[in-house]
Amino acid sequence: MLCVEVALTSQLVLMFDLRGEPIFVCVCGSKMWNLKVMWDNETRQVGMYLLDQVCDECGAVATAPTEIDGCD
Ligand SMILES: [Zn+2]
Repeated sequence: MLCVEVALTSQLVLMFDLRGEPIFVCVCGSKMWNLKVMWDNETRQVGMYLLDQVCDECGAVATAPTEIDGCD
């Protein structure tokens, strides 16, 4: 009997690019994002962050909201 093993070496990964309008919730429903931040030494809070955020669930890339987004 002949057996053939096939190894799957590549994986299809679909990720959304949602950059543009700042969003709070991803299309997958997740509200948890991964961002690059810099800490403020005095307040010990986030002092600065980059606007590209990555969804913690599905890996979609989106634009992070800022304080002035809601102002007209
Ligand atoms: Zn997502």
